[in-house]
Amino acid sequence: MRALSAVALAPDKFDIVQLQVESPAPDEIVVEMRAAGVCHTDADELAVADTPYVMGHEGAGVVREVGAAVEHVAVGDRVLLTWAIACGTCRQCSRGAATLCERYGYQAGHARPGSTRDERGASVGRSFSLGTMAEVAIVRREAVVKLPEDIPLASACLLGCAVMTGFGSVVNAAKVGAGSTVVVLGCGGVGLNVVQAARIVGAARIVAVDIEPSRLEMAVRMGATDPVLAPEDDRFLAATAEEVTRMLGGGADYAFECSGVPDLGLSPLRFVRNGGTAVPVSGVESVVEADLSLFEWDKTYLTPLYGQCRPGRDFPRLFELYRRGLLLLDELVTHRYSLIELPAALADLAGRRTAKGVVVL
Ligand SMILES: [Zn+2]
Ligand SMILES: [Zn+2]
Repeated sequence: MRALSAVALAPDKFDIVQLQVESPAPDEIVVEMRAAGVCHTDADELAVADTPYVMGHEGAGVVREVGAAVEHVAVGDRVLLTWAIACGTCRQCSRGAATLCERYGYQAGHARPGSTRDERGASVGRSFSLGTMAEVAIVRREAVVKLPEDIPLASACLLGCAVMTGFGSVVNAAKVGAGSTVVVLGCGGVGLNVVQAARIVGAARIVAVDIEPSRLEMAVRMGATDPVLAPEDDRFLAATAEEVTRMLGGGADYAFECSGVPDLGLSPLRFVRNGGTAVPVSGVESVVEADLSLFEWDKTYLTPLYGQCRPGRDFPRLFELYRRGLLLLDELVTHRYSLIELPAALADLAGRRTAKGVVVL
């Protein structure tokens, strides 16, 4: 079948074109996409694009076709896509680390070659083995999670990356407990979800740090108790860390970096007290100069991928929190775009104008 798709072609270059999507193999599912979230990782990935691939890794839609071996969903089901695609048997899957699956995982990369082709018949890859910014996605069955009826698809698509990453970093990785103090550096799509997860687990103080006043307002709506506007020239947030440390009467128990800014990769260490936990959530991959005294004393520096997502455990929990009004999703969708408006969506993301932008298909 033909599907209008956003295809990355070269560094910072993409086009909206028709692709041909095959019928599913026995363990694959074809999903008619209805909503695709726009994430910082989309921009990072596009900046280094070298082979053509369908963009997007956050998405929700309706099942259009299932392979013969698919049992957990049927044609017409509303579904969410997750990029924790686990084989269930490799060394990582055996210890429960679904996000690190060595066979189908994000780093292994597993879009079946030839399942998506361009007009000339050349195979086109899929971002995170999903490729959600398209009318249709062909994915492995492990990537598909059935959605309850009460979550709008434009809100549900955020669960597949921004929400899971933020929530899981707090709950699964750092295991923040009630009464703790939490600092969140950067209040974009992921940071706002760290804030709301900290609220949900009962953190006593949630300090939100950003350089944009509008983002801090949003952070307060999500549950931040102390918004802190950082000056743009505070390069490593050293001055802001001193201010926050004074404010809390000592460092925080936990600090999360959600800014995607390479200079801030080690900054959460500045905000935690001895024995505290620093969590770089945005996965910055850059060479930085490290002052090792930042790690003193007894601090933990955790690098969770995708909030250590285990789809079978985590998504039902998120659905329930949404139903109980504790997890705010609809409020996070501040901008909507059509597929051809993707350039505007990426510009708004870069300009920090969105909490979450969603491409509605
Ligand atoms: Zn993402
Ligand atoms: Zn595996």
